[in-house]
Amino acid sequence: MLDTLTIRTQRTTASRLSQLDASTLEFGKIFSDHMFAVDYHDGEWQEPQIVPYGDMAVSPANSALHYGQAIFEGMKAYKNADGEVALFRPLDNFHRLNASAERMCMPTLPEELFMQGLTQLVRLDSAWIPDGPGSALYIRPFMFATDGFVGVRPSNSYRFMIFTCPVGLYYNKPLRVRFEEKFVRSAEGGAGYAKAAGNYGASMFPTKKANLEGYHQLLWTDASEHRYVEESGTMNVMFVINGRIITPALSTSILDGITRKSVLQIARDWGLQIEERKISIDEILKAQAAGTLQEAFGVGTAATIAPIATIGYRDQDYDLPPSGPDSISKRVSQALDAIRNGRSADTHGWMVSV
Ligand SMILES: *Cc1c(COP(=O)(O)O)cnc(C)c1O
Repeated sequence: MLDTLTIRTQRTTASRLSQLDASTLEFGKIFSDHMFAVDYHDGEWQEPQIVPYGDMAVSPANSALHYGQAIFEGMKAYKNADGEVALFRPLDNFHRLNASAERMCMPTLPEELFMQGLTQLVRLDSAWIPDGPGSALYIRPFMFATDGFVGVRPSNSYRFMIFTCPVGLYYNKPLRVRFEEKFVRSAEGGAGYAKAAGNYGASMFPTKKANLEGYHQLLWTDASEHRYVEESGTMNVMFVINGRIITPALSTSILDGITRKSVLQIARDWGLQIEERKISIDEILKAQAAGTLQEAFGVGTAATIAPIATIGYRDQDYDLPPSGPDSISKRVSQALDAIRNGRSADTHGWMVSV
């Protein structure tokens, strides 16, 4: 990609790269040398810059801290066998960031600012991208309110930033999840389709309760009846029943995952049958009892595909068959990996080189 935007770049004089141990990467703990930042005020985006990663000063009265005017994205850059770096579907993240911004009364970003900030930052810190199997550079774009004003109204000023974290192979231990019938992650008409910070904060307490009961995650259900499945933890969710992939249809309470739509596209390419519709707890438990529930898995950028081994419902655990090498989840996961690492053709034009 051509540099069509000049970004003032202050390089670090104390790179931490030599301390990086790619064999013991823990998700989200290690940050690359630089970060991108651009402020918004007086109705426009100001001069963008890339600076060394580090702490910063903000007003204690900002509306992100008090009222949750904060949004984010999660995406990855991959290094192929020739050392070339590419982003996976970055424009989808860009469009979703702007959809989240609109929902939270925040300014949208021009495509050039987002893409140039992203690519110039990733290029500058490309030595931080691990190239072992399953490893990548996790990228966190985010925006938050910066007015020093504690009244309840949308802020007039904002900061958009990007930092990155090298991440290793995500070990998908088979998940134990349970249907949640009391708490909700999001409701129709709420902000569940936006990647808004508060959605995560509010889901921590019910998730912690489930953890104490021995489950990794919750299977969120709809807010009005607690009958239909919405998502699994912070991932979209899919079920394979009788050879068909069934996943909740998108709504204002479900996040439009990029992994979700990529998995569905690959499955369509393979001629698999897909149903995007409401799926009830009842239907899942009946299929489990009849032996037709073949697979269940969460899908999202961090884990790609996380197979579900056990589903809990009202103090009872229901086991799924172990996910073998021929399972749809394994095959789709490998197909996605191959596209991301340049080992198979990128027929949908998902990869954007940096
Ligand atoms: C980010 C997110 C996902 C997954 O989206 P991807 O684009 O696939 O990473 C799913 N559900 C929720 C609630 C999320 O925040």
